[in-house]
Amino acid sequence: MKNFDYCNPTRIVFGKGSISRLPELIPSGSKVLMLYGGGSIKRNGVYEQVVSAASGFEMVEFGGIEPNPAHETCLQAIEKCRRENVNFILAVGGGSVLDAAKYIAAALKTDCTDPWEILTGEAEVNSAVPLAGILTLPATGSESNGNSVISKRSTKEKRAFGSPHVYPKFSILDPETTFSLPQKQVRNGVVDAFVHVCEQYMCRTGESRLQDRFAEGILQTLIEIGPDTIKDSTDYDKRADFMWSATMALNMLINQGVTQDWSTHMIGHELTAFYGVAHAESLAIVLPGVWRFALEHKGNKLAQYGKRIWGVSTPQEAIDKTEQFFQSVEMPVRLSDYEIDADEAAAKISERFRQRKSVFGEDGLIQADTVGDILLSRA
Ligand code: NAP
Ligand code: FE
Repeated sequence: MKNFDYCNPTRIVFGKGSISRLPELIPSGSKVLMLYGGGSIKRNGVYEQVVSAASGFEMVEFGGIEPNPAHETCLQAIEKCRRENVNFILAVGGGSVLDAAKYIAAALKTDCTDPWEILTGEAEVNSAVPLAGILTLPATGSESNGNSVISKRSTKEKRAFGSPHVYPKFSILDPETTFSLPQKQVRNGVVDAFVHVCEQYMCRTGESRLQDRFAEGILQTLIEIGPDTIKDSTDYDKRADFMWSATMALNMLINQGVTQDWSTHMIGHELTAFYGVAHAESLAIVLPGVWRFALEHKGNKLAQYGKRIWGVSTPQEAIDKTEQFFQSVEMPVRLSDYEIDADEAAAKISERFRQRKSVFGEDGLIQADTVGDILLSRA
């Protein structure tokens, strides 16, 4: 195991009725910005619950954060926070709203001419306005990590930043708030959480037996309850398991001391940026391609995963089983399923990585040309 320094400062308040605990969680005297998305919280009763629980605080609102949150929209929210002297941000929604809250919180305290410099790495985040989350979509783990992914619509870019300063102070996870999710969003959440675990697990064997077992436990839980919770939104206990699994998948516990990959996310972000496929949809296309490309490099771990998770004996079968699992929850796995031309995608996306001189994945295995080959294999 490698050395590590682990602290997850986000307090998780989990369960039915937890939104009512807001008054004890938000620091007294805060001027709160309530940030939300396209309106789902107004249709499922979450908005009323928040407004009523937080009635003792001075609060302003900013709605309209879109899926794959836009830098351009966040700039408007930053302006509003400045105008209103906001000193606490409450994100109410899915990963997009949480990620936007982190970007806004960091931009308000970062010395830069354009907040986009935070995404390119030109500006360093040394501080942020405190933020918290009320999660309505289990998927990203953003409710309990320091990562944020923001898209610039004008240049079709999607980039990520991470900082210990943007961990939510607390996140409220009430599984009942997810009952209104369309099946497609739940399917996306199951696949995103599954791939998060894979990105942190599918590298070397023997680095940490405990991290392996944590990761395998999350994968097994997602396989066990995923298909049911997609179909039946009202089984509270299964939804609760799903919600907690998605948080545990990316709250930085399972990656301590072990090698990580993340190339599926890097390539997937470009598919979303250029073609608009949802985040999890992009991952289901890319992951089997990355694994087949790295079959030799990841062979031992794929074999362990195949045996323990799927009861199969070869790395190739383990990849096939994973692809079949995605298909079993009606998640398409090919570029052609979205009418994306593989030659064009391979050319565009590898050129972008070439310009950025990107080298990523386990042991820097993935480079611009490799990305082209991987995408061609997913036609
Ligand atoms: P999302 O983009 O936050 O939300 C997707 C859709 O679900 C929205 O249209 C939203 O509607 C709707 N929705 C949310 N909760 C709902 C509910 N309870 N009932 C009905 N509809 C609901 O989806 P996400 O998958 O959570 O987030 C995806 C983003 O997170 C991507 O940009 C991805 O790159 C990023 N991401 C971040 C991390 C991280 O660590 N920070 C990790 C992986 C991915 P409304 O807008 O109307 O609310
Ligand atoms: Fe993800």
